[in-house]
Amino acid sequence: MPFSELGLSAKVQAAVASAGYTEPTPIQAQAIPHVLARRDVLGIAQTGTGKTAAFTLPMLTMLEEGSARARMPRTLILEPTRELAAQVEDNFVKYGVNHKLSVALLIGGVSFGDQDAKLTRGVDVLIATPGRLLDHFERGRLLLTGVELLVIDEADRMLDMGFIPDIERICKMVPFTRQTLFFTATMPPEIQRITEQFLHNPIKIEVARQNSTATTITQRLVRSGKKDFEKRETLRGLVRGAENLKNAIIFCNRKSEVATLYKSLQKHEFSVAALHGDMDQSARTAALAAFRDGRIQLLVASDVAARGLDIPDVSHVFNYDTPHHAEDYVHRIGRTGRAGRLGTAITIVTPEDGKLVSAIEKLIGQSIEWGSDPVTEEEASEARRERRAGGGRGERSGRGGRGGEERSGRKGRGDRSESREAREPREAREPREAREPREARESRAPAPRAERPARPAEAPRARGSERPAGRQPAHEEADMSHLPQFLLRPVTYRAK
Ligand code: ADP
Ligand code: MG
Repeated sequence: MPFSELGLSAKVQAAVASAGYTEPTPIQAQAIPHVLARRDVLGIAQTGTGKTAAFTLPMLTMLEEGSARARMPRTLILEPTRELAAQVEDNFVKYGVNHKLSVALLIGGVSFGDQDAKLTRGVDVLIATPGRLLDHFERGRLLLTGVELLVIDEADRMLDMGFIPDIERICKMVPFTRQTLFFTATMPPEIQRITEQFLHNPIKIEVARQNSTATTITQRLVRSGKKDFEKRETLRGLVRGAENLKNAIIFCNRKSEVATLYKSLQKHEFSVAALHGDMDQSARTAALAAFRDGRIQLLVASDVAARGLDIPDVSHVFNYDTPHHAEDYVHRIGRTGRAGRLGTAITIVTPEDGKLVSAIEKLIGQSIEWGSDPVTEEEASEARRERRAGGGRGERSGRGGRGGEERSGRKGRGDRSESREAREPREAREPREAREPREARESRAPAPRAERPARPAEAPRARGSERPAGRQPAHEEADMSHLPQFLLRPVTYRAK
């Protein structure tokens, strides 16, 4: 079906043609006519299936009539991360070349003043992360009573990042009579509940999961010793020995590991950038841009930071850590082999990871070939036994051990900004592994600053809505040396 049969305006069709799209993707073909008919739409389709244009194109068509009023955006799009918000803005710029629409971005890490000035002039499309939106709203700088259409995009990622309560609040702040479009890649029960609560008689469009681990992706497992330095050595060998490696994303389970691995790769003179939730906005944008443009070959990332990002044309994915959640494996390797290209996904597996591999293989319904000697069943259960017997326990106590992690978690809850913009619960929740003594600690660095451009002029910071530049937030590896000893002692709770 061509784009011309979906009911899009002539202006939008012209923009689509000049962007080079010839045919709508299945989610676009099915959703666009219903969006134009003002129905609520629930769209479920995997990452990379073109969900963004499924709402931006009909929105552009609908916004050709009417005009914006000061402080009252006509439409609101919620995105879980700043990068995704920026990608959606890019879409409006690209397809809206023939329109005179005002699009504003409300995301953390950008000056409040500029954002506010734009709101004052009136915007047709407001693209926001939930935390920043609520900040503006609470300061009375924004009225949501004029919103005719609300888009909740990447809903499952919102859930991962703990944004569901914010989403519920926002849904109650926009008029009941609005049209709502809801997009997600998966449908966990919490998301199901939200759709039942906030969508009115929606059209449900579910694009069949194309066999998610596409045949264009070659998958391999490679065994490694469990120590961090052994894993790093394994990784270096894999990167150096990879065939046709154009560029690669390297996934770690925790953001602290992203920083450490980044440092180490840099030391070994790889062309590398890092991406994780504790980096400030300019560093994240710079890292992504450098990777997209091919100036940097390797990108070390955490799951949450990389989710949903449209990074086309990645030749290799390396799982430095076997993911704790099998569905993260699918998201990770889906970064390569996009659009029918060939891709390679290699997962480093230590004897302790045997169980995780089984869970992944169960989810994807196939077994993954070993590219090395396999980790045997016996080794895996031996490793589990050792671990249960308390291996690594002693290394964990003391500075920055579990106590630190718990404390920073609690702090996050008190500090609104951190709990919204930076919180990455799933990663933080992961159990800490035994810490590799020397090299790891030596190269432990403050969050990496990849290719950082000159900072844009800093506007007055909002009431703690973003961290001051340069100061690193407390996370699990925070320096606790200034704290009194009694705070560092592990706490035992006794249930009565
Ligand atoms: P999703 O939100 O489903 O993960 P995106 O909207 O980010 O996916 O789109 C993924 C990629 O597909 C983007 O690079 C986008 O430019 C491209 N794309 C979207 N629609 C089409 C289309 N109709 N034809 C070709 N490419 C498309
Ligand atoms: Mg998307």
